[in-house]
Amino acid sequence: MNRIVIKVGSHILTENAQISKERMKSLVELIASLQQHGKEVILVSSGAVSSGYTKLQLDKSFIPNRQALAAIGQPLLLKMYQEKFDKFGIICSQVLLSAADLDSRKRTEHAKNAINVLLSNKVVPIINENDVTATEELVFGDNDRLSAHVTYHFDADMLVILSDIAGYYDKDPNKFDDAVLYKTHSFLSEDVLNAEHSANNEFATGGIVTKLQSAQFLLENSKEMFLASGFDLTDIKSFLIDGVQKGGTLFKA
Ligand code: ADP
Repeated sequence: MNRIVIKVGSHILTENAQISKERMKSLVELIASLQQHGKEVILVSSGAVSSGYTKLQLDKSFIPNRQALAAIGQPLLLKMYQEKFDKFGIICSQVLLSAADLDSRKRTEHAKNAINVLLSNKVVPIINENDVTATEELVFGDNDRLSAHVTYHFDADMLVILSDIAGYYDKDPNKFDDAVLYKTHSFLSEDVLNAEHSANNEFATGGIVTKLQSAQFLLENSKEMFLASGFDLTDIKSFLIDGVQKGGTLFKA
């Protein structure tokens, strides 16, 4: 496995309405270590809206305000990443995409060419949805779906989703104490994939549904997905670097 896409959601990057410097630092350390182990890493990062909100407190329930906050926050977020990557002598770069870009073969090809040049020069592409022109991931999914498309179109072997949950369970572990973690998973039923999701109810099943839809898309396209905790990177480190699965869920056909 050489090319990996890592997706980190805003819940992981944000703490007390600010970008958590500690968590960003751990993530950057992980990416630097993966590079040292010969892997190419593409990062899909949310967090622009939260960054923007630290400068201007617009009402986030209104979508155009979230778009504006993302426009304010995106350069701030990248600046924070670059400061952290500097410590490892790694250059990072900003790539803003929308799902529609990847619907067009020509635009996908253009993006892929640029990504290939970046990766071959050991630059980390940091991808986010272009929230000013597209709002799909801003409303649903928090980049879950975009990251699955990025994995497929940019020829990565695997998508890693770093989440507030340590894997996929037989039921919601935040509601049921006896929920059991699936170590591997290969079949996702229609019921599970079509469960109702709502952008305004982030504690409903929505959060996991967009991840499962991403897993399904990747399984259908002969790719793998790993869902693991983004709060504690121990499981993902041992899986990607030592090849040992201690926790997390591997979606594999
Ligand atoms: P993130 O913000 O980290 O991308 P979300 O909070 O959007 O993740 O989605 C994960 C949430 O999905 C979990 O916190 C959990 O409450 C919920 N969830 C519902 N059903 C399940 C399940 N079967 N396995 C794991 N998580 C589940």
